Amino acid sequence: MVITMSTHASAEQVSHVVERVNECGYKAHVIRGASRTVVGAVGSSGRRNEIEALRAAPGVESVVPIAQPFKLVSREFRSERTIVEVGGVAIGGREAVVMAGPCSVESREQLFETAHAVRSAGASMLRGGAYKPRTSPYDFQGLGLDALRLLQEASRETGLPIVTEVMSETDVELVAEYADMLQVGARNMQNFALLRRLARTPRPVLLKRGPSATIKEWLLAAEYLLAGGNTDVVLCERGIKTFETETRNTLDLAAVALVREVAHLPVVVDPSHATGRRDLVPAASRAALAVGADGLMVEVHPCPERALSDGPQSLDLEGFARMMESFEEPVRRIARSPNVARPGAGASHTADEDVCELV
Ligand code: PEP
Ligand code: MN
Repeated sequence: MVITMSTHASAEQVSHVVERVNECGYKAHVIRGASRTVVGAVGSSGRRNEIEALRAAPGVESVVPIAQPFKLVSREFRSERTIVEVGGVAIGGREAVVMAGPCSVESREQLFETAHAVRSAGASMLRGGAYKPRTSPYDFQGLGLDALRLLQEASRETGLPIVTEVMSETDVELVAEYADMLQVGARNMQNFALLRRLARTPRPVLLKRGPSATIKEWLLAAEYLLAGGNTDVVLCERGIKTFETETRNTLDLAAVALVREVAHLPVVVDPSHATGRRDLVPAASRAALAVGADGLMVEVHPCPERALSDGPQSLDLEGFARMMESFEEPVRRIARSPNVARPGAGASHTADEDVCELV
C-alpha cells in the first residue's frame, strides 16, 4: 500500500503513520520527495484493513494499493526516477554512462592498458571480473583477490570507479572493500541468500537479468534488495535465451523500455553478453541508447584473440574508441514526403531540421 501524505503534513503526522504501519505488521519505507512524503507499507502478513483506515489519519491524502507484485521498485511507489551514484558517477541522470573493461582481469598490463584506453575514449566506469561464473569448471575462474587489488589500483590511477561481480554471499564483505559497485551475475539473479546479503551492504548493486528470467522475476529480485534496505540498485539487461542460435543471447530491448515505465530504477544494457559478437556490439549499443537505456556495460580487451574469457564478444581498444565516437552521430535521418507540412514547422524547413536526434 502507498500512503501519500498531504503537502503540508507535519513531521509528527508522518511519524504517526510510520508507527501505525509498523504496528499493523508491515514494514514502513519512507520517501521524502520535494513536495510531499510517501510511506510504503510492505509485507505479506499485516492487517490491511487497518492500513486502509489510515485514510482518516491527520495529514494523510490517500491510501492506494500497489497493483504490481514488485512494490518498492515500482513507479506506483516512487514516481520520480532514481539516480544511483557510484564513486561520483550518476547513473540514471540525463546522460548515459558507459562502463567498460575486460570480461576477466588477467594481468596488471592487460587491466591497466584497458583502463587507460577506455577512460580516454570516454568511459565513466571500469569493469573487470575477479570471480568468474564459468559454465565449465575447467575454464579460467578469475584471479580472485589479486584481481580485486589490481582493480583498486587501476581505479586509483585512472579515477574510474570499479564494478565487479560477487558470486557468493561469503565474498560480499571482501569484494565490497575493493569495489565501488557489486555486480550480481545473470546466473545468480535468483540467488536469494546473496540478494539478502547485498541488501545489507553499503555498496550500490548492478543486478543482471537472468538468461531465463521474466521481467517480473527480474524486478522481484531487485525488490529483495530494496526491501532489505539497499535502494542503490541498477538493472542490467544482458540478453535472454531464445530459440535463436546466431547470437549468444537475444537482446530484449522492449524490456528496457518497459522496465523504465514500470520501475524507477536505472537500467543499463550489456551488448557484449547479449550478442556474443564483437561486430554487433556497436549497433546493439546504439539501439539500447535509442530505447532509453541509462548506460552500457561493454567488454573491451587489448587483444581479444588472447582473452581468457569472452574474446569473441570483446571490442579491442580501437574498436571501443570508434564506437564511442560514433555515438556523436544521430541514429538515422527519417525520409519525409517533401510536400507535407508538419505541424509547428515553418513552410521552408531545411533538411537538417529533419534529422531525428535520438542519440
Ligand atoms: C560478465 O559480466 O562477465 C558476466 C559473466 O555476465 P553475465 O552474468 O551477464 O553472464
Ligand atoms: Mn564476460
